[in-house]
Amino acid sequence: MNAAVTASAMRIPLSQPSIDDDDIAAVLSVLRTPSLSMGPQVAAFESAVAAYIGAAEAVAVNSGTSGLHLALAAIGVGPGDEVITTPFSFVASANCMLYQGATPVFADIDAATLNIDPARVEARVTARTRAILAVDVFGQPAPIEALNAIADRHGLTVIQDACEAIGAERHGRRVGTQAQAAVFAFYPNKQMTTGEGGVVVTDDAALGRVLRSLCNQGRDDNGTWMNHVRLGYNYRLDEMSAALGQSQLRRLDAMLDRRNRVAAWYAERLGELDGVQAPWVAPETTRMSWFVYVIRLDERIDRARLMAALAADGVPSRPYFVPIHLQPLYRERFGCRLGAFPVTERIARTTLALPFFTDMTEEQVDYVCARLAARLADAVARHAA
Ligand SMILES: *Cc1c(COP(=O)(O)O)cnc(C)c1O
Repeated sequence: MNAAVTASAMRIPLSQPSIDDDDIAAVLSVLRTPSLSMGPQVAAFESAVAAYIGAAEAVAVNSGTSGLHLALAAIGVGPGDEVITTPFSFVASANCMLYQGATPVFADIDAATLNIDPARVEARVTARTRAILAVDVFGQPAPIEALNAIADRHGLTVIQDACEAIGAERHGRRVGTQAQAAVFAFYPNKQMTTGEGGVVVTDDAALGRVLRSLCNQGRDDNGTWMNHVRLGYNYRLDEMSAALGQSQLRRLDAMLDRRNRVAAWYAERLGELDGVQAPWVAPETTRMSWFVYVIRLDERIDRARLMAALAADGVPSRPYFVPIHLQPLYRERFGCRLGAFPVTERIARTTLALPFFTDMTEEQVDYVCARLAARLADAVARHAA
């Protein structure tokens, strides 16, 4: 590599957790105690999350996926039941239904918000429908009022996959208290992390007890260790992770502000670029909780080629999402086909997640946008030729 290239090239991660000295000290202090599981840290983390969300109950779990599974199990979703959800999400949003022997039924999305379209949800309700699983895609809250209204009309339960939306607000209300239960996730690419981890929140005390039991091998809540009253799981979060979670949660609002600033830096620069569209924040979204930064490319642009060119510049990028109904598992098991959800498919063909994380600097955003501008000019010129 020549000197000029070396001097100008940066290597930027797609995502990166924000870990400070307090986070490190919190984890280390747990390791100096004999209590590494089922101790005071998990209880304190659950209280802190419940307070932040404004929910009565919070049950810590070892992943967002575990939380989604528990939420469906706790409301009694089982074999033969259908659950309506979006095909434009991470695969866990539908896999949790398969764990319970239930069938995912997809409804297409709104092209602006990328969230499920309530009108299409109602059209898919059948006698077997048991629940609606709403996803807050990329940190933008789903249209929960409309989904709750449909659920009320048809006697369904709404579960919210808020794994991408901690701290987000819709019409001034924080995500997590408007569904029967909501699930947040803390994998290292999320807005805050516990390593692996998640939490289920609910205002329903009885549901909270069932969630707690299911998470802990189906034990009852009278403290009898060897008494298992239902088929449960070991989905418990450990104490180190819970300590990290408390430390991260204390900084969450500050981290969300920084992510908001990174998104604003991107929006300023992308506004001038031909062939890309910055993400849209709906007026109902009174606070966006930026999870990833996903742009949309003009249909003429060869995305795979653009990604390869950016990668050569040290800028990773990724299509986000590959629709669930087009995943090999779903094609095989349910005979899902291309063309079934045209809005989702059209959007998914043109999305590109750019590097995005809490500690991203303006200089890094500048570099990504400069490389993107140069590579886009190449792509458009090639298309014209
Ligand atoms: C991150 C995420 C999950 C849960 O992921 P885990 O890795 O299991 O914590 C679930 N649904 C969506 C939409 C997600 O983005």
